[in-house]
Amino acid sequence: KDGLKKSRRGFVDKLGSIFTGRSAIDEELYEELEETLIRADVGVQTTMDLISELKDYQKEEEIEEPEELYEVFQDRIREILQGGDDILVPWDGLEVLMVVGVNGSGKTTTIAKLANRYKNKGNEVLLAAGDTFRAGAIEQIETWGRRLGIDVISQQEGADAAAVAYDAVQAARSRETDLLIVDTAGRLHTQKNLMQELEKVRRVIGREAGEENVEVLLVLDATTGQNALHQAEKFDEAVDVDGIALTKLDGTASGGIVVAVRNELGLPIRFIGVGEQAADLQNFDPDSFVEALFT
Ligand code: GDP
Repeated sequence: KDGLKKSRRGFVDKLGSIFTGRSAIDEELYEELEETLIRADVGVQTTMDLISELKDYQKEEEIEEPEELYEVFQDRIREILQGGDDILVPWDGLEVLMVVGVNGSGKTTTIAKLANRYKNKGNEVLLAAGDTFRAGAIEQIETWGRRLGIDVISQQEGADAAAVAYDAVQAARSRETDLLIVDTAGRLHTQKNLMQELEKVRRVIGREAGEENVEVLLVLDATTGQNALHQAEKFDEAVDVDGIALTKLDGTASGGIVVAVRNELGLPIRFIGVGEQAADLQNFDPDSFVEALFT
């Protein structure tokens, strides 16, 4: 938790002084703000949007006090971050969560964290080892399964991922599973093939489990900054992402990426990862995030 606070602080450290350390709103304020936001990973597009909105608003409302403008700025950030309600609950019958993201983003760890969370809530959880491509991926998720006491449906390395997903949905049905979480491949060097594979997995799950029972969660590594945004567009195109899990916010990532992700992707952030252990997953709560950011 302290780690998360640190990364939030990284974003905001200079922001306060930009507004409060001067007596009038001038062009220099906007320049400093722009520079700080970009350095804090808010991203060029979102930064430009924010600045021009702020300028327009200031003019329209004839705001003269920097402190008042700071309030307007905070409100706008709060507004951008809205819309991250808890995923998946309540549900009725089988719910399938397909988890996508590039290798190394924290996909497997996030799956384990989610499985752990819902098992602890009393749900029947099942995992599917749908990354049949990366060496060691099946073993990694099976290790988590053993550790958490959760079964994993798998086939051998190199198997058709859609066949694993199909098997897993059938198994989930016969076991009256509440939540099936499907891992997927995240290789980048053959991106086109990957997206085709994911589309197929998505189709099979939707057909077998019912479209209304499927959600796609995209895992993004917060420390990869703007790259994460580019990846997200590709995944969303292929499989229609429902929500985002932003990992490694306990590390060196600047909290600003949260604003960029929310603003540029138009997708809700559902969860944030704040460590490597099963319990290190939090619901993303916009109000408390902004609260921590600016106080
Ligand atoms: P995958 O390739 O996407 O499945 O990624 P993994 O789940 O194997 O995670 C890659 C590395 O990131 C592992 O060393 C994880 O322990 C680590 N990791 C995942 N999530 C977090 C997080 O929220 N915080 C930190 N500090 N490390 C994380």
